[in-house]
Amino acid sequence: MKNILLLFALVSVLLFGITTYRNYKKEKPLVVIMMGAPGVGKGTHSLELSKALNLPHISTGDLFRENIKNETELGKIAKELIDKGQLVPDNIVVEMLFNHINNNGYNVTGYILDGFPRTLIQAKSLDQRLGNNYNKIALNLNVDEEKLIQRITGRLICKSCQTPFHKINIPPKIEGKCDKCESDLYQREDDTKEVLKNRLEVYNKNTKPLIDYYRNNNILKDIDSNGSKEVVLENILKSIKQNKNQ
Ligand code: ADP
Ligand code: ZN
Repeated sequence: MKNILLLFALVSVLLFGITTYRNYKKEKPLVVIMMGAPGVGKGTHSLELSKALNLPHISTGDLFRENIKNETELGKIAKELIDKGQLVPDNIVVEMLFNHINNNGYNVTGYILDGFPRTLIQAKSLDQRLGNNYNKIALNLNVDEEKLIQRITGRLICKSCQTPFHKINIPPKIEGKCDKCESDLYQREDDTKEVLKNRLEVYNKNTKPLIDYYRNNNILKDIDSNGSKEVVLENILKSIKQNKNQ
C-alpha cells in the first residue's frame, strides 16, 4: 500500500513537472497590430502576412462593410460615419471586434489586426484584453505622402472576398474581376479625394498618437512600405523575427 502511494505521488509530481515545463516552453499566441495612414497598404500587407504566418486577418473596416452589405443595425450606424470619413464610436467598434474574436476562437490562435486600434481608448481596451498572455507587435507602415493618394484613389476591392487590387500597381488579371474568386471589383465610396482628406485628418488627430504609445511600450517596429508587396512582406517578417529574439 505504501509503495502504491509513493508511486502515485511520484507520478503526480512528474506529470505536474512536465505540464509546467510545457507551459513555460509554449510560445504565447502572436497579435500583430498594423498601423499606418489610410492607403499605406495595411489591408494588402495584412493578407500577405496572414498567409505567411497562418494567422487570421481581422479588418474592422471589412467587418463594417460586411454589416453595411447585410443592412444590419450596426451597418446603418456605421455607413453614415464611414461615408464621411469619420470614426465609428469606440464602444461599438470594441464590442463588434471582441465578439468576432470570441465567436471564431481567435483568442487561441492569435491574429492580425488591421484598422484597430484607431484611438487611445481602443488601444487601452485591447491591452486590457490581451494582458500578458500574448506576444504583441505593432507595425508602423510608412509610405511617402503623395503615394497615399495615388494608392487610395486607384484602389479596387473584391465584392465577395475583399481582396484589394490597384488599377496600376496591382491590376487584376481580368479587368474588373477578382483573381481569387472572379467576383466583381468595386471602388469604395470613401476612397475619393474629398473623403480621403477627412480620413487623413482623423488619422493624424486620433490614430497617429498611438505610434508613440506603442513605441513607449517597446513593441513598435517601423516598416518602410514604399516597395513591392514582396519586399514589404520581407521587411515585416524580419521585424517579427527580431522581436521574437529580443
Ligand atoms: P483604411 O483604408 O482607411 O484603413 P478601413 O477599411 O480600415 O480604412 O476603415 C474604413 C472606415 O471604417 C474608417 O474610415 C472608419 O470610419 C471605420 N472604422 C474602421 N475601423 C475603425 C475603428 N477601429 N474605429 C473607428 N472607426 C473605424
Ligand atoms: Zn474575390
